Amino acid sequence: MGLESGSVCINCENLKDSFRCGKHDVDVDLDNVCSDHSLKRSISKSSNCYNCKKFETNKCPNPSFAAEGLLCFSWS
Ligand code: SF4
Ligand code: SF4
Repeated sequence: MGLESGSVCINCENLKDSFRCGKHDVDVDLDNVCSDHSLKRSISKSSNCYNCKKFETNKCPNPSFAAEGLLCFSWS
């Protein structure tokens, strides 16, 4: 069996917290996609707040929760 990756909202850089599309300002489901999809660098098993570019910056939407071993949809 070969595994493939697909373009969906979950790997789009426009997805914000609470499953909200920041580009279109609509709620989305994880398996939704639209023609404005923009691939976000893939979140991997090793992704967490400590290797997130937003950690301890004003771009982190969850500064009080950010910690090693945790991550959110805004990880980049
Ligand atoms: S731009 Fe399109 S693919 Fe990306 S999060 Fe919004 S609705 Fe989903
Ligand atoms: S809470 Fe989200 S945005 Fe903030 S450091 Fe963690 S993964 Fe990054």
